[in-house]
Amino acid sequence: MVTRFAPSPTGLLHLGHAYSALVAWERARGQGRFLLRIEDIDQARCRSVFEAAIFEDLRWLGLDWPEPVMRQSTRMGAYRAALERLAGMGVVYPCRCRRRDIQAAVSAPQEGAAAIGPDGLVYPGTCRGRGMDRAGPGDVLRLDMGRALVLAGPAHFVETGARFAGEHALDPEWMRSQVGDVVLARRDLGTSYHLAVVVDDAAQGVSEVVRGADLFEATFIHVLLQRLLALPVPRYHHHRLIRDEKGKRLAKRDDARAIALYRAEGASPADIRALVNLPAGP
Ligand code: GLU
Repeated sequence: MVTRFAPSPTGLLHLGHAYSALVAWERARGQGRFLLRIEDIDQARCRSVFEAAIFEDLRWLGLDWPEPVMRQSTRMGAYRAALERLAGMGVVYPCRCRRRDIQAAVSAPQEGAAAIGPDGLVYPGTCRGRGMDRAGPGDVLRLDMGRALVLAGPAHFVETGARFAGEHALDPEWMRSQVGDVVLARRDLGTSYHLAVVVDDAAQGVSEVVRGADLFEATFIHVLLQRLLALPVPRYHHHRLIRDEKGKRLAKRDDARAIALYRAEGASPADIRALVNLPAGP
């Protein structure tokens, strides 16, 4: 059993992160390993002070993990290799549409209502079919969802989180209409969250991905990529989201609930567990 916590160092850890890390750590405790991975592909938004704060907060909570910690910023070669493999299968194409072009295309009357899925606005397919030999330096690379589904064949994953517990099969119709041709590499990053997370979970031998319920739908994209890249499909555990007293889920920059702030105010790790409704620690 290998679980992981994969924060992006773009801000301080808040109660929602603490909950996610504690759940992942406890699921591995006694029967496997808990890994930490720093998701810092977006170098423009990541800061080393936040990375240092992540380590400090997690240690304070009582967690430990093997070193060295994987950093996505050092993994660009692995993402490039995965992209090349997908391109070799004919499921990747270069796209030069800008956000406003996509919005204009999907709001054209003949297109009907624009679908917004787990990856945002569903791309209308304007550039689909362009060869990789026509890729320009400013293009993004997209997955040709129709072709990818045919090549991948039927696929499913097992979910152990309470809300979605059970086996989930990929529904090609839903994938086409609600997900569409997702971006696999952003022009400025050389990869995307979806591609990086799939490549790295496999490289780290993660057998159960523990994360928030907000990423449940994205899992279908991840399983499709795992199938195309012949990577093992891990088990998934999507946990409840931590909300504020008004019922709103905590935002990335919810500094009012930052662990560092609770610590500065004299809270103990047991207080943090109580705040996220976890039973008292070991
Ligand atoms: N880096 C992602 C985040 O901070 C985590 C994604 C994942 O666990 O798959 O939201």
